[in-house]
Amino acid sequence: MNSIEVRQDFPILNQEVNGHPLVYLDSAATSQKPRAVIEVLKRYYEADNSNVHRGVHTLGSRATEAYELAREKVARFINAPSPEQVIFTRGTTESLNMIAYGYARLQLKAGDEIVLSPSEHHSNLIPWQQVAKVTGATLKYLPLQEDGTLTLEDVRQTVTPATKIVALAHVSNVLGTIHPIKEIAAIAHAAGALMVVDGAQSVPHMPVDVRDLDVDFLAFSGHKMCGPTGVGVLYGKRKWLEAMEPTYFGGEMIDIVELYDSTWKDIPWKFEGGTPIIAGAIGLGAAVDYLTKVGMENIQNHDMRLATYAMERLSELSDLTVYGPKPGKTRGGLVTFNLGQVHAHDVSTVLDAEGIAVRAGHHCAQPLMRMLGVISTVRASFYLYNTEADVDALVHGLLSAKEFFQHAIG
Ligand code: PMP
Repeated sequence: MNSIEVRQDFPILNQEVNGHPLVYLDSAATSQKPRAVIEVLKRYYEADNSNVHRGVHTLGSRATEAYELAREKVARFINAPSPEQVIFTRGTTESLNMIAYGYARLQLKAGDEIVLSPSEHHSNLIPWQQVAKVTGATLKYLPLQEDGTLTLEDVRQTVTPATKIVALAHVSNVLGTIHPIKEIAAIAHAAGALMVVDGAQSVPHMPVDVRDLDVDFLAFSGHKMCGPTGVGVLYGKRKWLEAMEPTYFGGEMIDIVELYDSTWKDIPWKFEGGTPIIAGAIGLGAAVDYLTKVGMENIQNHDMRLATYAMERLSELSDLTVYGPKPGKTRGGLVTFNLGQVHAHDVSTVLDAEGIAVRAGHHCAQPLMRMLGVISTVRASFYLYNTEADVDALVHGLLSAKEFFQHAIG
């Protein structure tokens, strides 16, 4: 994979910001879109736009075919046993809420346990808090090692026969830690619990095979994997999806409607009430085609190589605290750090003046920030279109920030 050639596929990258070539290091927040995806969206709206699963006219059939083909593509991408196990949602947040509301809220009771890690994104934390409040189930947190990793021994100690759900991010959006989901799923299953995986930061960056990992549910977002905003996926094992209640009731998701009761379509359509995310799903199908062509293993190796290079280069800078797995340990394609006591927003403002886009803040992980003893951090995240030169620009920008804030760093 040649990231300099890959860059040519992303028109947005070819611009200057504040008088400097754009260096986009915020793909963990949202990725940029290749021309192939933009073109598919344009073609869909120019030639095929119509509602799906309804009319019998030609455009309606074309749109329906394209929408359902996108489902097949996504199913193949994650090695789902069947396309019906792929539900199009608005994104990871909605997918996780659907599991919490449609499954956990109805199945759990007082005395049951939900096991989480303290480094979860708020979207894999607050829905479970809500489930616990309504059902009387309790939340239990796995202890995190200093570098943000989990030990299987701690998982074995924490998961008990009372555990009904283990819900974890595959890759932490703050620390870049990659959790051993396959091994954790095996522990969860041995205790009779379901494994729910937040794949927002893994599915875009590495091959994810739901059958190999043997997860019960997987949630991810299209916009972080070269697809459009507004579309995401909920994958589930058939038996759980069949047991799960829809979240949205109305048009499209019904079988028979009577005045006082109704029945639902089969999976996946019972979960897609109303006009579905047609263009979004078709765009996500195009993104999956694009990523498959580049090769997910190539992308994973590339992102990890850049993160390793970034760790090396950042270690040259004094006054920088880098969080997460230490150099030499496996991490996803991102680095998170602070410059002395300087607020992350200030560091990010100086970087922006040099055309460098990074994320600054609590990254929707306030409990983790508290554990790290900070209120915010700076995060640089890499994707297939980033190069070593982008990391060099980041280091240059950080040297400028150091100079600018010398008094505060002291
Ligand atoms: N989980 C993780 C690990 C994430 O990084 C994100 C996005 N920052 C989400 C969940 C939420 O994704 P979305 O906003 O697309 O629903």
